[in-house]
Amino acid sequence: MKCRICGAPLKKEGDICTNCYKKYQEEEELKKDTKEVLKFNGKYSIAYEFTKYAWIIAIFILSSIVCISAGGILEEFLLILIFVILMGFLLFIDKRLAIARKVVFYEKKVVYTFNFLFINTEKVVKYSDLTDVTYYQTFRQKRFGYGDLCVYAKGAFPGTTLLNGFQIKNVENVKEVLEAIGQIIGPNNK
Ligand SMILES: [Zn+2]
Repeated sequence: MKCRICGAPLKKEGDICTNCYKKYQEEEELKKDTKEVLKFNGKYSIAYEFTKYAWIIAIFILSSIVCISAGGILEEFLLILIFVILMGFLLFIDKRLAIARKVVFYEKKVVYTFNFLFINTEKVVKYSDLTDVTYYQTFRQKRFGYGDLCVYAKGAFPGTTLLNGFQIKNVENVKEVLEAIGQIIGPNNK
């Protein structure tokens, strides 16, 4: 007799081994954990996005000045049109991406989902498998209190985010969020 899941020889009667049974029980236990403790996704704010695209705005203003001083009214109109379409497209994508990533902390596990166009990813990490939770901030993010929250799980290499963990971009009040996470995962699981 062999284990139905991993193929290990069975010592006792049955169809799965004790290892797989333990894993199965753990998974069942995790499924029962449905109490949401903390939930957030990436923040989208027009003000922040505009600082990100400051260079586009600068180019636009500079070309506008050139256009107007050369008396090109039609060119100026075209320029404005291109600018509006481009910014609209970029902001639309950014907004989609911001809501696409969602993270929910439960009592024993954290669930990360990413739904964008046809991509649907879900990652479930139990707290005992977490190795580190931290955040990164650019200067621009700092001014807004935003940060990229990185959650590492066992097996991940430091510095890379996506092997066995996940990253949520532009988390609002990232410092406070990290503290809250520390309190959720800290006492019972580390
Ligand atoms: Zn097995």
